[in-house]
Amino acid sequence: MIKPMQPSLPNPFDTPERVAFRETIQNFVVTEIRPYAYEWDEAGDVPWELHAKLGALGVFGFGIDEKYGGLGFDDPFMRSDYAVAMSMCGAGGVSAALGARSISTDPIQKLANEEIKSRVLPEILSGRKGGSLGITEPGGGSDVARLTTRAHLEGDHWVLNGSKTFITGGMKSDYFVIAARTGGPGLTGISLFFVEADAPGFSRTSLSKKMGWWASNQATLYFDDCRVPVENLMGQKDYGFLQIVNNFNYERLGLVGCALGMMKVCLEDSIAWAQERETFGKPLIRHQVIRHKIADMSAKVDAVQSSLWILCAQIDAGHMPVAEICKAKFFATKALEYCASEAMQILGGAGYLRGNRIENVYREVKVIAIGGGSEEIMKDLAMRQMGL
Ligand SMILES: Cc1cc2nc3c(=O)[nH]c(=O)nc-3n(C[C@H](O)[C@H](O)[C@H](O)COP(=O)(O)OP(=O)(O)OC[C@H]3O[C@@H](n4cnc5c(N)ncnc54)[C@H](O)[C@@H]3O)c2cc1C
Repeated sequence: MIKPMQPSLPNPFDTPERVAFRETIQNFVVTEIRPYAYEWDEAGDVPWELHAKLGALGVFGFGIDEKYGGLGFDDPFMRSDYAVAMSMCGAGGVSAALGARSISTDPIQKLANEEIKSRVLPEILSGRKGGSLGITEPGGGSDVARLTTRAHLEGDHWVLNGSKTFITGGMKSDYFVIAARTGGPGLTGISLFFVEADAPGFSRTSLSKKMGWWASNQATLYFDDCRVPVENLMGQKDYGFLQIVNNFNYERLGLVGCALGMMKVCLEDSIAWAQERETFGKPLIRHQVIRHKIADMSAKVDAVQSSLWILCAQIDAGHMPVAEICKAKFFATKALEYCASEAMQILGGAGYLRGNRIENVYREVKVIAIGGGSEEIMKDLAMRQMGL
């Protein structure tokens, strides 16, 4: 039987709207995703109808104007509750396949021209089409300032040459936001381009053999004299990347939510197993060592949950606590690493078998620790933001 998901602490910032949204998403995950997530992940794909079903709930529309099919408001608490609930579905790849579009939509709304926005955003937000963001290259992801994909102007077209890799949703997306160098070295000199999958000179191959996130359709993208109309330059030439740095704060906040959801899975499934499994004449949960592991996990869940709520409250009040988001991301991924290891230990051999959530979480810890800004890069950025 599938148990409903419960928050471990009451959220002091809850409103009736937030409670209703959270319950809707939790119910959707429990009934529409969790029973099938493992099967979809093993198959390496998610049925496209699911994108539209989730899109109909409005989950892709935070911060996007209603005229483009968005919700017309933003709410960091609802964004986080979505991330937490989705990452409890039993396969991070399923959640990534559905949610990856969100890192492309903010830049499109902010920087694309009106024709592109009004044509494309309703398609992506409704779940009819996919969108992806392509920053990382085969030569590296952390040092964005050194990216080498180039774009130059030829008549009324930009011509792109280079490659992107690890692009989530990339095998299925119709629309891409691609970073390419148009100027000199460094972060200034990078522009963003709106590229459609049928653009001449665009091709892609699947990154199919991965430790986790199997259903997420990661791709390597190739741009061989790929031509896009001149109006597909997004925002100001050479300043595109700098114009979307705020976007990464939301991505990282979402990843803190993912880490928290995965930690909750570790706690929930460890408690259930420890209550059921007997060793040496009593349930596992009656052995002090196991009780302490569960207490430690529970304390870490509370700590990450509390810091996530404080960050959301700050953002809701109009501040963007960049350093604290970076710190929360690496703190949460380390806490997740601990919980994944202890939960696997509590489940014993059963945890090692495919088809249970702990095995999935254990394999997918590192995606959260590396993707969207690795632990090392988050620490460096936090220190710089702290003026050190
Ligand atoms: C499953 C998955 C999905 C992804 N989805 C996307 C996507 O949709 N779009 C996209 O653009 N990218 C995506 N990425 C790429 C991701 O953002 C990069 O993997 C990440 O930024 C790290 O880049 P890298 O892998 O090239 O590692 P590198 O930059 O080569 O770094 C290697 C290691 O060295 C460390 N390191 C680097 N520099 C320093 C330093 N100065 N000091 C100390 N340590 C350092 C890093 O932290 C890392 O641990 C995805 C990655 C994964 C694994």
